[in-house]
Amino acid sequence: MAKEKSEREAKLLYNRENGYDIIDAEEKQRCEDYCRNYMRFIDLARTEREAVSLGIELAKKAGFVPFEPGMALSPGTKIYSDNRGKALMLAVIGQKPLSEGSVIAAAHVDSPRLDLKPVPMYEDGELCYFKTHYYGGIKKYQWLTIPLELHGVVALQDGTVKDIRIGSEPGEPVFQITDLLPHLNKEQRKKTAAEFVPGESLNLLIGSKPDPEDTKDRVKLAILTLLNEKYGIVEEDFLSAELSATPAFPVREVGLDRSLIGGYGHDDRVCAYAELAAIMETEKPQKTAVCILADKEEIGSEGVSGMKSRAFERFMGALCDAQGVKREDCFANSICISADVCNAFDPNYPEVSEKRNAAKVNYGFALAKFTGHGGKSGSNDASAELIAKLRSLFAENGVVWQMAELGKVDQGGGGTVAVYMAERDIDTIDAGVPVLSMHAPYETVGKFDCYMTYKGIKAAYAAR
Ligand code: MN
Ligand code: MN
Repeated sequence: MAKEKSEREAKLLYNRENGYDIIDAEEKQRCEDYCRNYMRFIDLARTEREAVSLGIELAKKAGFVPFEPGMALSPGTKIYSDNRGKALMLAVIGQKPLSEGSVIAAAHVDSPRLDLKPVPMYEDGELCYFKTHYYGGIKKYQWLTIPLELHGVVALQDGTVKDIRIGSEPGEPVFQITDLLPHLNKEQRKKTAAEFVPGESLNLLIGSKPDPEDTKDRVKLAILTLLNEKYGIVEEDFLSAELSATPAFPVREVGLDRSLIGGYGHDDRVCAYAELAAIMETEKPQKTAVCILADKEEIGSEGVSGMKSRAFERFMGALCDAQGVKREDCFANSICISADVCNAFDPNYPEVSEKRNAAKVNYGFALAKFTGHGGKSGSNDASAELIAKLRSLFAENGVVWQMAELGKVDQGGGGTVAVYMAERDIDTIDAGVPVLSMHAPYETVGKFDCYMTYKGIKAAYAAR
């Protein structure tokens, strides 16, 4: 038992506490209920497209309607805008005019994965494969020998788009990238982790049964016949397809105490879901609440559906026009939570983190003042004033939160959409859920932190 703190110690010292020591039984139950819904969400949302369509489904149920420029907007109006099925923006109109700013939360719904190449199919050694090009920052060896699913779309010349989803239902087949047996990996063992799996060797095994026709590439012909029967596609249709191999693991509770959640793509659908859940429960906020689910964060926020896209200006501009407000004035008075995950302190790898500043599992919503690398390079570096404002909001609303730093100084680093929001003259801070095994095919998060991230974003939406 720790000694009771003196009054002076309690007053002067910054004290971090494990979240489970702070919240009561009722709050613990709310945390469990929230996480059950989140688990259902990521189990279904394996790609940005699936996350967006699920987001729209939830939004419609909560009374959100598609935004049309020129429509009447009054306090409490709930709208959404679907950006090409790959990114989503939602808003609840506030009581104050947009000239006084909005409260924005921006997460991303793309995750590291293996995309099929435009000409993916080939046969070798009487086995058939898809060639892949990995998307985002992965440790390639983690993707060998695990079951993989296939998700995405094939767009046909006649304009129809076929949805493909193979491997996620029980009983459906999955795919695999093979690895060398330990008996024969003498040479492989000498290579570094960076080089022993060349990118071009990430080939997905998709079949082995030859076609009865006496021809070259009989296995490939048989697989194409199957695809044609089921989806009406031919090999050339892969040229206009977006198909991704994602881990075929169901989302599960982790640990004997079930306090953690294991799953693919917590980065960053855990924050995307927190935003969605928060905005669904936001009625007539003081300032307009905006929720963004962006695409392409894992490859630099590029492209029309990424956070650099002016689709965001178009949406916010239309809202401002409706109130006769200049978009620039709205941005300058807005705040943005760049809701993205950070690394959790991992006792297996303590050497990369600085204990006093690293985020810990079960210590709550993690705010990162800065990210970047080598002297904060490439970082947004949020202002002291913005953090103070959030401190006060979180204290008022019972949000358990902590500060986070992405690894020790000079250890490496990373970035988020925060810089692109700040570039727009919007005061921005990174904040999200600490993750163990970030960017692995199976990532782990603490339930408590998922729940507090939702509570934190909800508190921000309620800001005056
Ligand atoms: Mn992320
Ligand atoms: Mn990431």
